[in-house]
Amino acid sequence: MNILVCVKQVRESSQPGALWILNPADACAVEMALCLRQAQGGTVTVLTMGRESAEDMLRELIARGVDRACLITDALYAGSDTLATAKVLRAAVQTTGPYDLILTGRRAVDGETALTPARLAALLCWPLISDVQRMDGPGECLCQSESQQKRVRYALPAVVTVHEGSCSLRLMGILGMRRAKKADILRLTNEQLRLDPGETGLSGSPTRVYRATNAPEPIRATRWLASGRELAQVLLAHREEKSREKTAFVSKNRLSGPVWVLAEEENEDSRALVSRAFALSGRAPRLLLVSPRENTLELARMVAQRVAEEHPETILAVSTGFLRALAPQVATFLNTGLTADCTDLQATESGLLLQIRPTYGGAQLAEILCPQARPQMALVRGGVLEAQEASPCETERIEQPENGPVCCLSRASGVESSLRQARLVIAGGLGVGSREGFEALGELAGLLGGELAATRAAVDAGYAPYRMQVGQTGVTVRPALYLTFGVSGAIQHVLGMNQSGRILSVNIDPKAPVFRYSDYGLVGDWRTAINEMKEELNP
Ligand code: FAD
Repeated sequence: MNILVCVKQVRESSQPGALWILNPADACAVEMALCLRQAQGGTVTVLTMGRESAEDMLRELIARGVDRACLITDALYAGSDTLATAKVLRAAVQTTGPYDLILTGRRAVDGETALTPARLAALLCWPLISDVQRMDGPGECLCQSESQQKRVRYALPAVVTVHEGSCSLRLMGILGMRRAKKADILRLTNEQLRLDPGETGLSGSPTRVYRATNAPEPIRATRWLASGRELAQVLLAHREEKSREKTAFVSKNRLSGPVWVLAEEENEDSRALVSRAFALSGRAPRLLLVSPRENTLELARMVAQRVAEEHPETILAVSTGFLRALAPQVATFLNTGLTADCTDLQATESGLLLQIRPTYGGAQLAEILCPQARPQMALVRGGVLEAQEASPCETERIEQPENGPVCCLSRASGVESSLRQARLVIAGGLGVGSREGFEALGELAGLLGGELAATRAAVDAGYAPYRMQVGQTGVTVRPALYLTFGVSGAIQHVLGMNQSGRILSVNIDPKAPVFRYSDYGLVGDWRTAINEMKEELNP
């Protein structure tokens, strides 16, 4: 079995001067490929498109056991968006293959768009299997999505995306290191890949970053508290308050042409997109409902077919795990742009869709346009837009045939996150220090009737499950009260909670940024604060 692993070099953090590292999810994909080769025989090739210095990373992967490494570098490819990148990768697959399986990380920690693997699958017309946690042989695996675990069987060839943290990449051996020193890295430029220059780099990219602006700092005037007892009193005083009033969105510009909304079901998120589509275009949008199934390739073809028949100018999709796999395939069949992870949508004076998303680790907001290709497409984060009072829409459902190259063998639903509905959210950060610490927060949440949340650092440390993560790469919440313990207030976390009614924070460091975003602050140890709160609540 010949396996290709597509890998990317990324900056370790958004700090200036941060090191270049192998994208963590790609490291898991390499390890899975090496394990499959051990069991099945065959070869493992790694492929990257990037800077010259990525050669060192490729040599390290050879030292860890990879058979062959390819580096794509060509100035022609600079500025490629996800469509143009996927076209380069397809050409490289065709030039260096044939392969039975392509593995890659489910997302890269720099852009977090997670679109390229799905686009590559659509270009190759191979099935896509997303979010794989474990491979059980060449055609069977365990997938983990936000709230579901499923065992899947699929036909080869296929593109498989791998969950970060699902395994650890093996160490380098002495023999491997010797081999890596002498190994030839296959270099690929457009001379070998022979892409039409109009299809690559900036000229082959339907999307354009129109500008990047600093994310607005939602600073609040902090009132300082002296103890956990005072904090409990403030909480009780505000407990009955309503969540923030919805603010009606009014657009001075109008989108030209009809808008479609792509969703799995009618819910708060699809209603919010319908409302925004109505406000932006001034006419009732079409709500296109698709049921989540395993065979996204066939469904993407059917949706693309409907779009080609009716030519909507704009398609807005709710960013669920399923639609994050489907929408890029639809966009690829239509040879158009797609912006993932949008947190706001507006219209320009000339009637284009302005797609706004966090970038540079959330420190900036990028405004993205799709000036020429149609439809202009955006995946929008759940919970960031508000549904206004009933906006009209016309509903159509697309049913997909049951059979296809991917089938689900079993499915187990995990605990659904109820964070989005909670009126009181209690969030713990790395400062809480342990799982036991989170249990103590859970007790307080039980006492106050709130839901528990966590920062990404706390989730990465294993203190809380991913479904509790609030922030740029987690859930967006807007409860009446948001209470934090041991949370520093990194912008990526703040992006998921700054629309809360009142924010109250406990941190041992008086200079912690979280206080800038808080209505009430208590400088001190989280455990002392909780004990004092419990005494006040349960005298
Ligand atoms: P830290 O920053 O380590 O802060 C811990 C805090 O605890 C400190 O302020 C410290 O003073 C305090 N503390 C320590 N001991 C105590 C004590 N005894 N009592 C009280 N306080 C104490 N983060 C998210 O949360 N959500 C996301 O969705 C997210 N997405 C990201 C996406 C990208 C692309 C990137 C680059 C990062 C993302 N992050 C996200 C990570 C984010 O940048 C921060 O690293 C993270 O939010 C920090 O979590 P923290 O506040 O728990 O930990």
